[in-house]
Amino acid sequence: MSETETETAPGAQQFIPPQADTIDELRAAAGGCRGCELYRDATQTVFGRGGEEARVVLVGEQPGDMEDQKGLPFVGPAGRLLRRAVDDAGLDPAQLYLTNAVKHFRFELRGRRRIHQTPDRVHVTACRPWLVAEFARLRPDVVVVLGATAAKALLGPSFRVTRQRGALMPWPASAQHPEDFARVPVDSAGKVADAPAARLLATIHPSAVLRADDQDAAYAGLVADLTVAASALPS
Ligand code: SF4
Repeated sequence: MSETETETAPGAQQFIPPQADTIDELRAAAGGCRGCELYRDATQTVFGRGGEEARVVLVGEQPGDMEDQKGLPFVGPAGRLLRRAVDDAGLDPAQLYLTNAVKHFRFELRGRRRIHQTPDRVHVTACRPWLVAEFARLRPDVVVVLGATAAKALLGPSFRVTRQRGALMPWPASAQHPEDFARVPVDSAGKVADAPAARLLATIHPSAVLRADDQDAAYAGLVADLTVAASALPS
């Protein structure tokens, strides 16, 4: 696929039904997304997973080989490591919603192996409407950005995870376009409710731990950052 072709990606917005009220409805619609060319070679769309009442939303880069085959995010080696880190940080897995900035697997074939390729900006931009739609149905206390691609999708291209990781920031005020993620909370009586301030924290992607020369140190750093996220949850 040439850069010229990818630059014309129509984006996901036209595939999002305006009447989709729930994450399940969004997931069903995302199965037919043709917002960029990545759907052609991937097996299936890998949408977010978790309850709409999740208190923590973790955003990664894109599905990997195993996620692409199973249709679920974070079920491969990096996902297993993330689950262990989440546990060690004291986060309750039942309170998590897991998703990715890009919802199809981008890879190149080498022989019979499918080798991960980092999504380009055009893919992140094309897929961002799904992320915005997910956040419109979620109301987390904490958003955790895992790695540079997710950081670009949510915080803009100038954000550097290596420099700014582990620090709690206001959400959605810290987003690149905060208005995309700000919704007016309404209580069960239909009145505008006071929403507790949510926060965002960036850290490395669990796959970076698997690639690190010193995996123990990288893992400890990931757990330390996730522990900061856990501490931000209202008790
Ligand atoms: S990567 Fe995102 S925008 Fe591209 S086809 Fe898949 S769901 Fe649609």
